[in-house]
Amino acid sequence: MQSNDIKNIVIVGGGTAGWMAAAALSKLLYADDINIRLIESEAIGTVGVGEATIPHILYFNRLLGLDENDFIRQTNATFKLGIEFVDWGKLGDSYIHPFGPYGFDMEGMHFHHLWLRQHKQGKAKPIDEFNLQILAAKAGKFMRDKPDMKGSPLSTIAYAFQFDAALYVKFLRNVAEKRGVIRKEGKITHASVNSDNGHVSSVHLENGEVISGDLFIDCSGFDGLLIEKTLKTGYDDWSHYLPCNSAVTRLSERLDDLPPYTRATAKTAGWQWRIPLQSRTGNGYVFSNQFISDEEALTTLNAGLDKAPTSDPRYLRFTTGIRKQVWNKNVVSLGLSAGFLEPLESTSIHLIQTAIARLMTNFPDKSFNQPDIDYYNARTRLEYEQIRDFLILHYKATTRDDSEFWRYCKDMAIPASLEQRIAIYKENARLYRHDNELFNHVSWFAVFHGQGIIPKAYNPIANQLPVYELDKRLEEIHKVTSKCLDHMPDHQSYLSRIIAES
Ligand SMILES: Cc1cc2nc3c(=O)[nH]c(=O)nc-3n(C[C@H](O)[C@H](O)[C@H](O)COP(=O)(O)OP(=O)(O)OC[C@H]3O[C@@H](n4cnc5c(N)ncnc54)[C@H](O)[C@@H]3O)c2cc1C
Repeated sequence: MQSNDIKNIVIVGGGTAGWMAAAALSKLLYADDINIRLIESEAIGTVGVGEATIPHILYFNRLLGLDENDFIRQTNATFKLGIEFVDWGKLGDSYIHPFGPYGFDMEGMHFHHLWLRQHKQGKAKPIDEFNLQILAAKAGKFMRDKPDMKGSPLSTIAYAFQFDAALYVKFLRNVAEKRGVIRKEGKITHASVNSDNGHVSSVHLENGEVISGDLFIDCSGFDGLLIEKTLKTGYDDWSHYLPCNSAVTRLSERLDDLPPYTRATAKTAGWQWRIPLQSRTGNGYVFSNQFISDEEALTTLNAGLDKAPTSDPRYLRFTTGIRKQVWNKNVVSLGLSAGFLEPLESTSIHLIQTAIARLMTNFPDKSFNQPDIDYYNARTRLEYEQIRDFLILHYKATTRDDSEFWRYCKDMAIPASLEQRIAIYKENARLYRHDNELFNHVSWFAVFHGQGIIPKAYNPIANQLPVYELDKRLEEIHKVTSKCLDHMPDHQSYLSRIIAES
């Protein structure tokens, strides 16, 4: 090992971000002389939310070498096939943004172009009937993909998890501690900065202990103890695009039939989530306090619960946006200390995961090469901006004008990048995936179509297929998709078998 190598890593914070980082780093940096220490304060606690995920979490679990069934049992998890959006395009509407594709892409085109051709002819079956994830979600069914059934929609079922945030942290902590991560309990009062290079050199605990390090990973939550309070990095506020700045959360009794999906219902000044777990349901109203009061938000949340509440309400405030530099000097911020995008598409845990992967790719030595840091920051910003645009679409693509909040969203200025996407889609249904961004054409189509944006035309190449051939192919895909659904067990019994295995 070279003498310039990083030997001491200090993770500040033991929420989801801190323990995800600890679990991953302890797996990937296994040299004997690397110390990973994590400091957290039980008195301060964690944000305690963050329970819905997207399919990429499967890669994280695999990276850690976790047994998926054990993970499900220990985190009270359920399976998730997508998100149902209720009342977004207009009151009374509902659509599911699925994790897997509609039909099959053919003739060098995305499936939705061929479907739109039939749709324009007035004879298309509903698009949902070409998507196994949506059909299964609506029917309350689930099973894992069967990769050996090549060519069948059953070979590629895309799923994620809904789990208990506190149990997930406990689970990761166990993984990390077994691999040698040292946990320190205590409140950090302040940090010392090296006057030569401005790097953080140590953090000071309330009990007088001083912990020094080469690399600091700031997972201290919204306050950004090192990245902001110490290094004064600054923050870009995106509230003008995504005006929600508050949430009130509350647990309720478990649902009778566990739906394999998360639900996001648009309300007067935001939206309400419902996340079904094995033993209880997570709920929260994400709202803007510029448009309604905390009391009104709680009344709405309570009225929207499917079952009796089992906890007191909790309020949270946040500012949507991103740190000006998520990596500054020798401090890399992860999770809420790096930035915040509301949980409408369950992307925050994913952003922690990609940040860890990016940190590993650009892992520094003690010289902290600035071009590496600049690259890391630029890629992270791009990733946040791409997700931000996708979230904004949900608000912008509405015809709702029943409240001041929705009138604001309908009329608000949006980023030029999103304006361009909307204009292209409205004309000919073309959808692009820039720079391997998180959300692909399936996701963008789901929201555009689900919120009632009908394009004027579709890719003209779709007209080359003779009508009888198009009709035959779509009929076949439809038949196969519904047959696959018949093979799927219900979500509850699939889960029960996993739980009983222990
Ligand atoms: C309303 C809401 C809903 C969300 N829903 C989802 C979702 O469905 N899906 C999703 O992917 N994400 C969701 N998120 C985001 C998700 O909750 C976070 O990304 C995730 O929990 C990571 O949080 P964190 O670890 O960065 O911060 P925290 O959980 O706040 O952890 C901070 C840690 O730092 C420690 N700490 C802070 N200050 C000090 C100090 N001075 N000394 C010592 N320790 C200190 C704390 O004790 C704690 O351990 C949601 C967020 C919000 C606000």
